[in-house]
Amino acid sequence: MNTSIKSAQEKELASHWDAIVIGSGIGGLVTATQLAAKGAKVLVLERYLIPGGSAGYFERQGYRFDVGASMIFGFGTEGTTNLLTRALDAVGMRLETIPDACQIHYHLPDGLDLKVHRSYEKFLQELGKHFPQEKEGIRKFYDECWRVFNCLNVMELLSLEELGYLTRVFFQHPLACLGLVKYLPQNTGDIARRYISDPVLLRFLDMECYCWSVVPADRTPMINAGMVFSDRHYGGINYPKGGVGQIALKLVEGLEKKGGRVQYKARVTKIVTENGRAIGVKLANGKEYRAKRVISNATRWDTFEKLLPPEMMPTKEKNWQNRYQKSPSFLSLHLGVKAEVLPKGTECHHIFLEDWQKMEEPEGTIFVSIPTLLDPNLAPEGHHIIHTFTPSWIDDWQRLSPKEYEEKKEAAAERLIERLEVIFPGLIAGLDYQEVGTARTHRRFLGREDGTYGPIPRRKLMGLLGMPFNRTSIPGLYCVGDSTFPGQGLNAVAFSGFACAHRVAVDLGL
Ligand SMILES: Cc1cc2nc3c(=O)[nH]c(=O)nc-3n(C[C@H](O)[C@H](O)[C@H](O)COP(=O)(O)OP(=O)(O)OC[C@H]3O[C@@H](n4cnc5c(N)ncnc54)[C@H](O)[C@@H]3O)c2cc1C
Repeated sequence: MNTSIKSAQEKELASHWDAIVIGSGIGGLVTATQLAAKGAKVLVLERYLIPGGSAGYFERQGYRFDVGASMIFGFGTEGTTNLLTRALDAVGMRLETIPDACQIHYHLPDGLDLKVHRSYEKFLQELGKHFPQEKEGIRKFYDECWRVFNCLNVMELLSLEELGYLTRVFFQHPLACLGLVKYLPQNTGDIARRYISDPVLLRFLDMECYCWSVVPADRTPMINAGMVFSDRHYGGINYPKGGVGQIALKLVEGLEKKGGRVQYKARVTKIVTENGRAIGVKLANGKEYRAKRVISNATRWDTFEKLLPPEMMPTKEKNWQNRYQKSPSFLSLHLGVKAEVLPKGTECHHIFLEDWQKMEEPEGTIFVSIPTLLDPNLAPEGHHIIHTFTPSWIDDWQRLSPKEYEEKKEAAAERLIERLEVIFPGLIAGLDYQEVGTARTHRRFLGREDGTYGPIPRRKLMGLLGMPFNRTSIPGLYCVGDSTFPGQGLNAVAFSGFACAHRVAVDLGL
């Protein structure tokens, strides 16, 4: 590159920014784009080569694999909870999406084989056939989830830490606000048991929660369940054409159009403070950048245990860590298979479990996504992608020689594939490509401590009340992403991004 252009770029980067965002996950990018759309000067620093974090992608031998997420909420066209559509729109971007007629095909113990259809009535009918004695309770429970969703889906979703917004939204939608206040401290399991007593059905509801919250219904906040169990029938599950990675790429394009910048291979090693206030960041290459506000999209563990000195750990964070722990990571298997492995009518997303006792165990529940059923261009002609993953702890992958590590990966992959052969007969014979990711892979490539999927309550808490918002006890420092309210999932971290940008914009006087 021409040296004068390079030095002009370096000068620009070294100048004073309104906000620096550490990380270009969806939480970080939604914050950055929202702020840029309000006129802020924003710099995003990303340690990896491309944006997206857990919503990124990688390419091998003609396959484009999603790193993690592929069941995507938030792409609806109506209401206010379609936050991915809204985030893109705010910076003049749009993505073509492909609607999925079915959220999940469950393959569960006790012969519980059923699909969550996009149509609410069709889903209730199918579930009711398995539990005819509980038909009324099933409807009452899921209808109560709709009540939560309907409250959320009328109001603009911004920062609950901003009094002006809270007052405005209360006067605009008093009943919806009171409804949400009622549900905020509640958990899904308690509400389910008001209507349902069949133990197998209650286990099914545990799985309905576990497959996105990684805890059973008793520890899953009702607000989150209300969103997931209703939006899948409202905005629906929609897959972005070209793969999930497109979301981050489009957000970056929109951000740059609004004058924001993203720098890759820029690992932040330190949040720089002055008199206890965050004033900038330092990178692994020694460069320092300053900003009026610093926003961390790294997990709260990475932010407070690695980017700040131990003596700066706020008491509030210690208390949070006493309430929440890191969830396990995942063992991910990215497979390329011959198309004939999948019979006609195969659905895109599957959950597979043989024994209820093992739902929460490592390698218990298996998650499967086959995005090429919706977008065939992600694989070579005549082939499909099967992305399968299952919970796995980092401790099981530590202290291994390179040879032991490779052997252990191989053995784990074999175990998973053998189990999958039950729902996809012929899978082993039809394998074309295979790549295994462990908790170590997640830690290394996603920059997440222990490769964790995110925070989970250590015990039963009061719904979502214990999740922290975006401000931190360190002036000038904010957190965004899945370890802030309202938790994991692309649409949830987009919510966190909207809220964070709103709070920061108010603080900057924008
Ligand atoms: C296997 C798997 C499957 C999933 N499936 C789904 C699904 O189907 N649907 C769904 O909605 N959600 C799903 N999720 C969850 C969802 O992907 C995440 O909750 C969400 O993407 C997290 O976004 P985030 O912005 O909080 O953080 P991340 O995606 O973790 O992004 C953080 C970014 O910050 C960067 N970073 C970290 N530290 C630094 C540093 N020091 N310096 C610079 N950059 C840094 C990272 O490289 C990363 O790019 C899945 C997750 C996984 C792992």
